[in-house]
Amino acid sequence: MRIPLLAANWKMYKTAHEAVAYVREFAALVKTFDDVEIALAPPLTALHSAAEAARNTTLAVAAQNIYFEKEGAYTGEVSAAMVSDAGADFVIVGHSERRRLFGDTDEWVNRKTRAALAAELTPIVCIGETLMERERGETLAVLDRQVKAGFAGITSEEVAALVIAYEPVWAIGTGKNATAAEAGEAHAHIRSRLREWCGAPAADACRILYGGSVKPDNIEELIALPDVDGALVGGASLDVGSFFEIVKRSRTP
Ligand code: PEP
Repeated sequence: MRIPLLAANWKMYKTAHEAVAYVREFAALVKTFDDVEIALAPPLTALHSAAEAARNTTLAVAAQNIYFEKEGAYTGEVSAAMVSDAGADFVIVGHSERRRLFGDTDEWVNRKTRAALAAELTPIVCIGETLMERERGETLAVLDRQVKAGFAGITSEEVAALVIAYEPVWAIGTGKNATAAEAGEAHAHIRSRLREWCGAPAADACRILYGGSVKPDNIEELIALPDVDGALVGGASLDVGSFFEIVKRSRTP
């Protein structure tokens, strides 16, 4: 039984004050929701304040990125232990914006995932094909490569506990979500690969989120798919009302 996870990726939006105000308002709205897990990923400068505001609520907090080394001369970077100390429970790893704009490779995604696990953070590992890869019919091969490389050296028990976010790059921030057929095919494929490479218990336990232009009016169709265990939501999570609708509509009636 996989508990749905709704994760909000705020990207580079919201100051610490704005994040705290959001957490307080949102926590009050979802305080009785015990059938879904909710994680908010503020920018790093708001992580600690958001985590403090989320203490004793049903909300968890996620970092948007980490570096894989424990410490050292890496100006501008933070470690897994540092974001954990700031209050994060989850960390997003390998978001397509990091892969595209900041050079994160499959190998780095693997090292960051391992660093997160070592610090007892739950990684939300993002994978997904570009439009060109989809048009060339390479989608499933790209997902295979990203899963295989991303999870190298990670045990089946660890795979069981982590989270994958399937985020077709062409759907992120574009307003054009994957259809139920496209998402269903990708999610079923990822789970079948997990079964083959990590065994049935890990494949059955690992949560696979869909991400890419999730909105209140498309979440119900997506979350109804058997291998979709929640969503990673960018733009539509910035507004309390719209993310609340998404969470509400993700619950089993
Ligand atoms: C994301 O940032 O992970 C994302 C899916 O963004 P959006 O919901 O805005 O497409």
